[in-house]
Amino acid sequence: MKFPHNPIPFRDDLNRRSFMSTLTKALGSTVLLTTAGASDVYSIQYGNEWTVGQVMDLFIKEVPGAPFGQTVDTLKSGDRNIRVTGIVTTMFATVEVIRKAIDLNANFIIAHEPTFYNHLDDTSWLADDPVFLFKSDLLKKNNIAVWRNHDYIHRLTSDGVRAGVVRQLQWEKFVDAGNPNVFGFPPLSLATLIEQVKRRLGIPTVRYIGDLSKSCKKILLMPGASGGRNQITAIGREKPDVVLCGEVSEWETAEYVRDARAKGHDLALVVLGHVASEEPGSAFLAGWLKEKVPGVDATHIPAGNSLMFA
Ligand SMILES: [Zn+2]
Repeated sequence: MKFPHNPIPFRDDLNRRSFMSTLTKALGSTVLLTTAGASDVYSIQYGNEWTVGQVMDLFIKEVPGAPFGQTVDTLKSGDRNIRVTGIVTTMFATVEVIRKAIDLNANFIIAHEPTFYNHLDDTSWLADDPVFLFKSDLLKKNNIAVWRNHDYIHRLTSDGVRAGVVRQLQWEKFVDAGNPNVFGFPPLSLATLIEQVKRRLGIPTVRYIGDLSKSCKKILLMPGASGGRNQITAIGREKPDVVLCGEVSEWETAEYVRDARAKGHDLALVVLGHVASEEPGSAFLAGWLKEKVPGVDATHIPAGNSLMFA
């Protein structure tokens, strides 16, 4: 899937802004009111008018090797030219999140994960699906742009999602110098570790494999759904006491951990939930926008877990 990246409008617009801003200083805004449109004067004076495409380009510019030819980080709704009234960051652009964005008068949602229920947001197979039609109509009717920022935020020099998660866990000082996914702790029990992670990430319940009284020193953190092979390979390479991950396929990593324990390796696994394990990445992005896109309200709205525990 090709990313519709076009740096030219961004550069042109910057030139236009700095040219007009020089003019403002030289002539004063009264003169400009008669020579430029009202929106031009507004953007020159306050510098807070952005299009969806400009915000996307600004983020992409920070990513080494970007723009990527192959990426899932495309617009799922709306277009690059929409003028941004406010931005919402979230894990999923759920119907509930879209409604909250409308209440906030925010017309740009930046979501980490797909909008239409599959990795590529291919909607051809959903053309007659009532849920798909309801959601896409809601977005269209309200002229809301949805951009997925998944590949780019993960590929910042320091993965933005991991940075957000580590900050919220307050684990910065425990990170291993050789691997940013590995943490070395003074020994603590698996029960204490689980309690701390639940409290700091705001997760009511987790699933786990292991002995709650087991002492843990080396922790492997893998937010999101990195896949069975990646998780199992990382366990083999790092030999942690416990691996914390967002999502597992029950028939892959969970079975590997069960067999490792039967073999005598006292390994523990904690499954946080995909949304819970990466939601701090959307908080990180809201912070980034506040700093880099001045004058535009950026709000992080947690998507929350879709699944309940009975
Ligand atoms: Zn992710």
